[in-house]
Amino acid sequence: MTHSRRSSFVNFVQGLDLCEPQDVTPPGQNEFPIPELPVLNGLRCSFGTCSYLCLTEKRMKSHWSLAKHSCVMQKQSWFSVPVQTFFRGNLLKYFSGLVQPPETELAKCSTAELSTCFLTGAYNIDERLLQHYCTLTSTMITSDSSDTTFWQQTVPQLAHEHDFLMSAILALTSLHLAHLNTDRQREFAIHASSYQDRAMPIFRKVVAAPTSENCNAIVVFHHLLVLYSFAAEQQDDDDLFLISRDDNEVAPRWLHFIRSACVILQDVRHWVEVGPCQTLLLSWEAPLKINKIVKKSIMETLLTLIPPKSSPRFWRQNIVNIYNEASSQLALAFACSTDQFTIWDALRLWPVTISVDFMNLLREEHPCALVLVAHYTVLLQRIDNEWYFRGRANRLLKTIHRKLDPYWYPYIPPVLALDGA
Ligand SMILES: [Zn+2]
Repeated sequence: MTHSRRSSFVNFVQGLDLCEPQDVTPPGQNEFPIPELPVLNGLRCSFGTCSYLCLTEKRMKSHWSLAKHSCVMQKQSWFSVPVQTFFRGNLLKYFSGLVQPPETELAKCSTAELSTCFLTGAYNIDERLLQHYCTLTSTMITSDSSDTTFWQQTVPQLAHEHDFLMSAILALTSLHLAHLNTDRQREFAIHASSYQDRAMPIFRKVVAAPTSENCNAIVVFHHLLVLYSFAAEQQDDDDLFLISRDDNEVAPRWLHFIRSACVILQDVRHWVEVGPCQTLLLSWEAPLKINKIVKKSIMETLLTLIPPKSSPRFWRQNIVNIYNEASSQLALAFACSTDQFTIWDALRLWPVTISVDFMNLLREEHPCALVLVAHYTVLLQRIDNEWYFRGRANRLLKTIHRKLDPYWYPYIPPVLALDGA
C-alpha cells in the first residue's frame, strides 16, 4: 500500500485503546481457536513442562538442541497440535488449545499402539480423528512421498476454513481406523458415514458455484471423495467398476467422482494453479514417458481379441471403433512409465480417458468392455498396497470372470488364487 492510502488505516488504529504487541498475552485454552485467525498445523515440545510451539520439525529439533533437553532425555519428542498466532515477524508467538499429547506420544507410536491410544483417549472425537489424520492417514494417501507435506499440512489448514472439507477428512480417517481395527470396524464405519453425510449437502451447494475462496477445498474434497468411495466399497464385487443392475447410475461412484474432479479442476485451474493445491495439478499433469514399442505390442495383442467377421461372436463396426479407441488408450497407459506409480496415475491414465460410449458398453456387460477392464486390473495391481485399495484389483477381475463367457478366458489375465479378501 502506498503511504497515502495507508495513513487512514493508521489513524484509525491509533484511535483505538490497544495493548502494545509485546504485552499481548496468549488466549486461554478454552478460548482456542480464535475464529478470526487461521489455524496452523503446529508441533508442541513434550519435554517436561516446556511448552515450546513451532511449525516445523526442523525448528523443533533446533529447539531441542538449544534448550539442551537432549542432555536429560535421549529421545527427542513432540506432538502435533493446532496453533495460531496474533503476529508475524519479530513478535511471532504461537499459542494452542492442546497442552498434552492425546494419551501417549502419538507421533512416535506404532500403528497398533496409535490405534489403541486413539481408542482409549479422553479427547474430543473430532480432535482425535484429526490428530490421527495428521499423524498417519495423511501420510498414507499417496505413495508419492513428495505429496506428504501437502496432505499432512496444507490440507488440514484448508479444512479449518471449510467445514465440508474437515468432515471429509474425518470421514476418511474413520474408515482408515475401521481398516486398522477390524474388531471395531462397524463402529468406525458408522462414524465415517455420519461425517460423510454431514459433508455432502454442503459440498453439493458449493460445487455448483465454485469461487476463488473455496475452489481449493473443492478440489481436495473431490480427491478425498474418490479415496472414500474406494475405502467404503462393501465386499460387493459388482460395485467396484461394474454397475449393479438395480442402480440407475451410469457409472460407479468413484469413477463418476474422478471424472467430475477432472472437469472441476479444469474449470478452476486458473485459481488452483496459483494456490496451495498446485501440487494436485502436478499429480494430474506430470509428464509421462511413453515407450512406443510397448504401446505397439500391447495394442497388437488387444486387437487380436476382436472376433473375425465370420465368427458368430463378431462385433458390429461401431463397437469395433469404440473398442479400438479404448484399447489404444489402455495400451498407452501400459506404455507410460512414471517414477512412482500413484493412485492418481492409475486413474488419469485410463478411467478418465474412456468415452461415454465405452461406459455404456460396460454397463451392458459387453465382452469388448469386460476384457479391457480385465486387462486394466493388471495396472491396478500396482496400487494394491494402498490400504484403501487392497484386494480390489483381483476382486474386480473375479467379477469379470464370472460375467464373461469362458470363451474369453484365454484372452484375459488369470485370477490370482490368493485373494486377500
Ligand atoms: Zn522444549
